[in-house]
Amino acid sequence: MDFETLCVHGKKKIDEATGAIATPIYQTATFSHPGLSETTGYDYTRQQNPTREQLEYLIADLEEADEALAFSSGMAAVSALMELFRPGDHIVASGDLYGGTYRLFDRILEPKGICFSYAARTGDVGREVRPETKAIYIETPTNPMMNIFDIAEIARIAKDRGILLIVDNTFLTPYFQKPLLLGADIVLHSGSKYLGGHNDTIAGFLAVRGAAAAEKLRFIAKTTGSGLAPFDSFLLIRGIKTLALRLERQQESALRIAAWLSEHPSVSGVHYPGLAAHPDYALSSRQATGYGAMIAFSVTSAGLVKQALERVNIIRYAESLGGTESLITYPMLQTHADIPEKDRLAIGIDDRLLRLSVGIESADDLIADLAQALNDDEI
Ligand SMILES: *Cc1c(COP(=O)(O)O)cnc(C)c1O
Repeated sequence: MDFETLCVHGKKKIDEATGAIATPIYQTATFSHPGLSETTGYDYTRQQNPTREQLEYLIADLEEADEALAFSSGMAAVSALMELFRPGDHIVASGDLYGGTYRLFDRILEPKGICFSYAARTGDVGREVRPETKAIYIETPTNPMMNIFDIAEIARIAKDRGILLIVDNTFLTPYFQKPLLLGADIVLHSGSKYLGGHNDTIAGFLAVRGAAAAEKLRFIAKTTGSGLAPFDSFLLIRGIKTLALRLERQQESALRIAAWLSEHPSVSGVHYPGLAAHPDYALSSRQATGYGAMIAFSVTSAGLVKQALERVNIIRYAESLGGTESLITYPMLQTHADIPEKDRLAIGIDDRLLRLSVGIESADDLIADLAQALNDDEI
C-alpha cells in the first residue's frame, strides 16, 4: 500500500464485526472478562483501548516501525521515553531543541542526575559522546532554526558506541522523512502538530524498532498512565487520513512564501531548508523527500516584530504548528522562553526572529496578509 492509502485505511483493522468505516470510539474505562483468567485482549483503558490500539498500528505502519505507542501529549511521550534512563546516564541532544523538551531535560531530569550535553551540528555529536552516554536525541529540522542533522551519519556513531538514536520527527512526519529507515532506534512525535493537523488535539507518539524496546516502553506507559484517550485517538486517526494532502499543500505554499520573504526589504534572513540558499539544502534534499512547511525568518527591527504579530489577520499569533490554520510565533517569548539568554542567542533566537507555520489556506491570501503586516510605512 502506498503511504497515502495507508493514511486513509491503515493495514490492520480492529473492528471488522460491524463494518464501521470510521474507527469507533471505545469510550470505556474497563472491559469485562469472559471467564476466569480470560480476557478479550482488553482489560483497562490505561493499559490499552481498541481506538488507541488502531491508532498505534497506523503510526507503526507509517513510520515502518515494529510498534508504536500513543501518549496524551508529545511531552508525555518524551517523559515516558526518559524513564529508560537512570541517574548517572548521559544523553547527547541537538542544540536547538523544542523549548518544552529542553525544559524537561534541564529542570526535571538534570536535578535527578541524568546529564545532557548539546551538539550544535552533526559534526559535534561524536565529540560529545562519553563512556556513560546512553542515547543521542535529535530534532531535524531543528525548531525553530530549521538546521538539518544527518540522521544516517549519527546512526553510525550510535551503532558504533552501542547507544540509542532517538529522532523527534514532528516537523517532517513520516510522509517526508523516515528516521527508522536511516538507522534511528526510536522516533518521537508531537501528534498535536501535523499528524493531528487541525490545531484541536494534544497527542504524542513513540515509534520503535525492536520488540524488546517496545515492550519496555509499553510497560512504562501502562505503569505511569500517560496513554492517549479514546476520543483523542479517534481525532488523530481522522486527522491522519488527510496527512499527505495537507503536507503537499502546506509545503507548496511554504516554498512560495519563503521565496517571497527572501525578497522582502523588511526581512533580513529566511531559514527554510527548501531554499537553495539554505546551508543544509543538499543534506535535506538527500535525507528527506520534502522540506515541510515551517519557516523561521528575521525582520529588520524588533519594532516590526510587534507590528507584524499585531497586524496579521488570517495568520494567527499563537503557539504551535502543523495545523490547517497558519500560525506565527515569537520563539524568544513563547516556545523558547525557558532557554537561558546566552544559549538562546547563540542558537540565533533573538528579538527579531519569527516562526511561521504555513497552513492550508490560499498562498496568495497568506502572502497578502504578510505583506500588510510587514509593511514598514508607519514605523
Ligand atoms: C510541540 C512539540 C513537542 C511537544 O509536544 P506536545 O504535544 O506539545 O506535548 C515536542 N517536539 C516538538 C518538535 C514539538 O514541536
